[in-house]
Amino acid sequence: MTAGVRLVVLGRQGAGKGTQAVRLGKQFDVPHISTGDMLRAAVAAGTEFGLRAKSVMDAGQLVSDEIMVGVVDERLHEVDAVERGYVLDGFPRTEAQALALEKITSEHPIHVVLNLEVPESVVLERITKRRVCTTCGRIYSVDAPPADPWRCDLDGGEVVQRADDTEEAVRKRLDLYAAETLPLVGFYRDRGVLCEVDGLGSPDDVFARLLAAVEAVRQS
Ligand SMILES: [Zn+2]
Repeated sequence: MTAGVRLVVLGRQGAGKGTQAVRLGKQFDVPHISTGDMLRAAVAAGTEFGLRAKSVMDAGQLVSDEIMVGVVDERLHEVDAVERGYVLDGFPRTEAQALALEKITSEHPIHVVLNLEVPESVVLERITKRRVCTTCGRIYSVDAPPADPWRCDLDGGEVVQRADDTEEAVRKRLDLYAAETLPLVGFYRDRGVLCEVDGLGSPDDVFARLLAAVEAVRQS
């Protein structure tokens, strides 16, 4: 029997997936593995796929599925992930990636895929209301602005809307998610590892639901 827990977290951008995935990693004492962090680490470490990713990114191109799968494969075979498990965040994004992940994890399969469900209309509103400090990156919202609008409470930096947080840009990302990633819900349901979690409510409430879902699988 293998110790630890191997999780995948799915969810639309703006569903709070990243924050919850970090928290799950801490809770179960397993590495939180996000696609962005993983790519940066592989590039820094100069692994085979890291070097290939670097040359593609330096050329201003998107990292292909093949390279991304290679980076994930390398990362999931590092000793911490093998011994303790992991929370995978931002991968897989497509059915092709999910099939590749199935091969990578054939010896130690994923225990549960958590789908953090937040309706499109809610994430659209959350993201388009988001404002960010250009100095420290602190996040504000139109509903919760800094005391002196729009100057950061911490450092007086200018608080602005990011160019990719406009309604048009968010809709584009939501459409891409619906086309490419949403089919994974059915993919993992068919494999009996999907757990749908209501992502509405306070972050603490959502985290409690995620924990309960993981514990239920671990005890079964
Ligand atoms: Zn600031």
